[in-house]
Amino acid sequence: MADIIQLLPDHVANQIAAGEVVQRPASVVKELLENAIDAGATTITLVIKDAGKTLVQVTDNGCGMSPVDARLSFERHATSKIRSAEDLFNLHTKGFRGEALASIAAIAHVELKTRTENEDIGTKLSIEGSEVTEQVSEVVPIGTTISVKNLFYNIPARRNFLKSNPVETRHIIDEFHRVALAHPKVSFSMLHNGSDVFNLPQSNLRQRIVNIFGSKTNEKLVPVEEETEIVKVDGFVLKPQFARKSRGEQFFFVNDRFIKSPYLHHAVNSAFEGLIKDGMQPGYFLFLEVDPKSIDINIHPTKTEIKFDDEHSIYAMLRATVKHSLGQFSIAPVLDFNKESGFDTPYNYSKKNPVAPTIEVDREFNPFQKEPRQGNIQFPYKREKGGSWESLYVGLKSETTETLVDLHNIEFESEEVTGSLFSSEETQENQTTFQLQNKYIISPIKSGLMVIHQHLAHQRVLYEEILKNITVQEGVSQQLLFPLKLQFSKSDIELISGLKEQLEHTGFVFSEQEEDWLQVDGIPVSMTEGRVQEVLTKLISDIKEEVPDASFSLNDLLAKSLAKSLAIKTGTSLNLEEQIHLVHQLFACKEPSVSPENKPVLVTLDVTDLDKRFM
Ligand code: ADP
Ligand code: MG
Repeated sequence: MADIIQLLPDHVANQIAAGEVVQRPASVVKELLENAIDAGATTITLVIKDAGKTLVQVTDNGCGMSPVDARLSFERHATSKIRSAEDLFNLHTKGFRGEALASIAAIAHVELKTRTENEDIGTKLSIEGSEVTEQVSEVVPIGTTISVKNLFYNIPARRNFLKSNPVETRHIIDEFHRVALAHPKVSFSMLHNGSDVFNLPQSNLRQRIVNIFGSKTNEKLVPVEEETEIVKVDGFVLKPQFARKSRGEQFFFVNDRFIKSPYLHHAVNSAFEGLIKDGMQPGYFLFLEVDPKSIDINIHPTKTEIKFDDEHSIYAMLRATVKHSLGQFSIAPVLDFNKESGFDTPYNYSKKNPVAPTIEVDREFNPFQKEPRQGNIQFPYKREKGGSWESLYVGLKSETTETLVDLHNIEFESEEVTGSLFSSEETQENQTTFQLQNKYIISPIKSGLMVIHQHLAHQRVLYEEILKNITVQEGVSQQLLFPLKLQFSKSDIELISGLKEQLEHTGFVFSEQEEDWLQVDGIPVSMTEGRVQEVLTKLISDIKEEVPDASFSLNDLLAKSLAKSLAIKTGTSLNLEEQIHLVHQLFACKEPSVSPENKPVLVTLDVTDLDKRFM
């Protein structure tokens, strides 16, 4: 039989290898930024176009390359960072596999401009699909600029596999954050389609975090610091009340390299035990420094997973350190509406799907009755922890002593917080509210009174409802008698297309679509026909604007935007039933006390505060 084994040509081998290293534009961003860091740059600029699909360009002021190195850098296994296998165990650089540039050059049009300090004239080199098409001398600044154009131009299947621009942009920003956080001493900027997305001056870690995630982050940070023989930890965790439902700011760095580690994540989570609600995620920016010899980074091609020699000790130490920091900064639970356990509304109830827009108020409703009156509204009478919002009101009741007996069975986490809310002056039936300046709903509670911001409260209600509809896919739609034909720009239509599935879950029905218009046949029940264009336009602009925020998740963003557009406005007058209905809906939410954008939804005024004012 004839011999049939052949060596693959280089460009094919490179294309195959590229599959491992380059999954999407963000992978290119990561590799280029890391190369710039390894080159000792102090200023790095990232420019992208069309979510990196058309262009990813990184410019640095690092050491640059000689003409020969410039050419060699695109060879597979060409690296200046290790010389022998032993070096693998003493790594101080991000890269070491010598694969990134070769892989990228196999699947894109790449242009390199570079110059070292010692040369007056630099090099320009162009490569397409692993083939050098040009290498010339050119006057360029010290440092390196690599432009990667038309990623996957020669692998259409991979190109088609890329996600929508917002999603790919999100991935790029994630990579950018990871590198920028690990290197606060380096200044970074990022531009997307010609506009500034980030401008991060040289700074310390705290400033870097604040520059990336916004000025409000500053007061949320709790420093963490500890040093033992095997590991040094420093960085910050976010105060427990800023924990979120989705994974937001969770960053581990080991020797300044971002890593993913479910094991260490668990350690941090367990340090927050008892301080945050189940299902909530703490935020953290933690930097571990270990002897490079004690880790193996080589177990994943994109190097985001590493193996520690002494994992158990690191776990224990991390958990203890975070716990200690939380304790030291007296983050112990206090009465605070952001995390008051009394608001831990039972999930059963929050799952109930409020029917908009009709108003239903069960005036007979008495949560202390043994049998719940309505099948789908259930307040558990016994809980492991905490009371519930209704305890703010119903404890005010006096004459129903036989039902109040049940109270003794309620176990409160803190008597101070919930127990004292019960008194005997007013009744649930008399629970009343009034509206102040068509803006606030005022409601008496045992300890004083509660002021609820109607617009923010409704935002919270709609947000949770929409988010639920998107995830469980049960949004209700109202069919339009005459379909609407809406005009948008080409790129906006593209953006909406990327969100079609989610929008349909909220109740939208789309039919035809062309380059610059789309037809809507159905809309969510909470919306009126006249507002569709406005609401979608707002959604588009929110998505475009939101990009720099780390909390970005398309569903979340969509829910926030729609909730904001559709919530009853300040200035709308509400009758008593509507007010009470809104209050009920609000406290059926999982997180009634803050708006989707983290603004307080309600404020309480204690009688004791009032008393002080009369002294
Ligand atoms: P690795 O980073 O694993 O060594 P790469 O393919 O990413 O492999 O890069 C190959 C080599 O090209 C590097 O080892 C480095 O010598 C050189 N190089 C890449 N990017 C830069 C840059 N921005 N500045 C200077 N040298 C660079
Ligand atoms: Mg590299």
